Amino acid sequence: METLSKQPEVQNFIDGKFERNGQKSMNIESPLDGSIISTLPMSTYDDVDKAVKAAQKAYKSWSETTFKERAQIFFRYRALLEKNMDELSRLVQLENGKNYGESKAEVEKSMELCEFATSIPQIISNEVQEVSKGVECRTERKPLGVVASIAPFNFPNMVPHWTMPNALMLGNTMIMKPSELVPLSVVRMAELLKEAGLPDGVFNIVNGGKDVVEAICDHPGIEAVSFVGSTAVAKIVYKRATSNLKRCVALGGAKNHLIVLPDANLEMTASNVVASMAGCAGQRCMAASVMVGVDKVQHIIDRMVEEAKAIVPGKNLGSVISAAAKERIEGYITAAEEDGATILVDGRGATVPGKDGGYYVGPTIIDHVTTDMSVATEEIFGPVISIIRAKDLDEAIEIENSSNYGNAAAVFTQSGGLAKQVMDRASAGMIGVNIGVPVPREPFSFGGWNESKFGVGDVTGRSSIEFWTQNKKTTIKWNKEAQTNWMS
Ligand code: NAD
Repeated sequence: METLSKQPEVQNFIDGKFERNGQKSMNIESPLDGSIISTLPMSTYDDVDKAVKAAQKAYKSWSETTFKERAQIFFRYRALLEKNMDELSRLVQLENGKNYGESKAEVEKSMELCEFATSIPQIISNEVQEVSKGVECRTERKPLGVVASIAPFNFPNMVPHWTMPNALMLGNTMIMKPSELVPLSVVRMAELLKEAGLPDGVFNIVNGGKDVVEAICDHPGIEAVSFVGSTAVAKIVYKRATSNLKRCVALGGAKNHLIVLPDANLEMTASNVVASMAGCAGQRCMAASVMVGVDKVQHIIDRMVEEAKAIVPGKNLGSVISAAAKERIEGYITAAEEDGATILVDGRGATVPGKDGGYYVGPTIIDHVTTDMSVATEEIFGPVISIIRAKDLDEAIEIENSSNYGNAAAVFTQSGGLAKQVMDRASAGMIGVNIGVPVPREPFSFGGWNESKFGVGDVTGRSSIEFWTQNKKTTIKWNKEAQTNWMS
């Protein structure tokens, strides 16, 4: 499969038009080979302000359209994602570096997210009840107004679809801020939404970095902010957006623990653990980062080593996002080695013939890690798994519970009773039983605990309906004959 190469310069998308107004320009690199593939504008508060004004102008008529009209647009948009699947997948591959199959899976997930959005009318019937004779109360879900979505680099197509379809289906208009490292997929999103018939100003894109994020948090015209990225920035965004009286859900980083018990199925466990840590080059917030091996699990570790050796950068493993990421990940491996851990499979210094400028790290398995090492506690965000040995399940759960993060946790066992203990006691928002990447499918919502998420509720699935709407409560009496009581 041939990868794409140079792309047109990236522009902001405001009121249905692509534009660039002499903002400072930044290069976009493909991590596959380090080549410059495009540039993007580093926008400022004024660009955010312009986008907010366009979104405010579009809000009145958009929020007054029926669910049916909005759903028709998303049926057409979903069909366009399917029609353009190959090109969209290759774009993700080009800008992010993951392999083609992983890129395609991302676009397929975006389609599923659109399917959920079109089902929202079936889910949110408003409530009506006759509370006294002839007096009725009703609750209706109303949109918030202009909302914003800030995205990370690791899923250039999917994460923007976590927020856009539901927020728009529920009648809001939106400002999208993609990661400055991967802004190309979102350009196509805007083009295809327009082709599907979305009115101008309902969806807008402002490109850039920190300045745009700060402008979004500060702008009085934005009602709600969804953020997905690292914990350090999630904290800044959550504090700044809520101190400006916006509602905010900020998803942060992760350090996911997989607990492996000696009775676990050998093949299934080894392949799941390795796929979880190496898939998307470990740059998934749901990736396995620590394996807690309970008691006698050497046979599983031996099989994992075999599995990992069959994963080859440039063949069935993509690149990491940047030179800085490669350096950081390799630094963690070296620190573990210096601290006395055993490197069973070493991905440092990986290269791919013909792609000398690319940023590759091979799969890495580190054994005999102790809980005080940096590879045991910090987010590495690369294809690296640290194995900590535990004597029993209680100790394993304690290790999981001691993490500051809490996105995902999983257990591998044939025993329902032991699995249930992990389900009950792990301190994480998403739990897997014999599943290495326990991403809930729609309509179940996605979101972690502890320092992996700040704010109430989640940004996808049913939970997102709360986040993107507010309730209007109306009490009605049509006839003077209605029963009178204290509130008549
Ligand atoms: P990041 O925090 O560096 O960037 C995310 C967004 O914040 C980008 O749009 C970026 O422009 C902006 N940003 C960066 N620094 C900023 C600052 N100082 N002030 C304001 N805005 C700033 O994250 P990333 O490197 O793009 O993505 C990887 C991280 O995202 C990992 O930690 C990963 O675990 C996390 N992630 C979490 C989830 C989840 O669901 N919890 C999902 C995907 C990624």
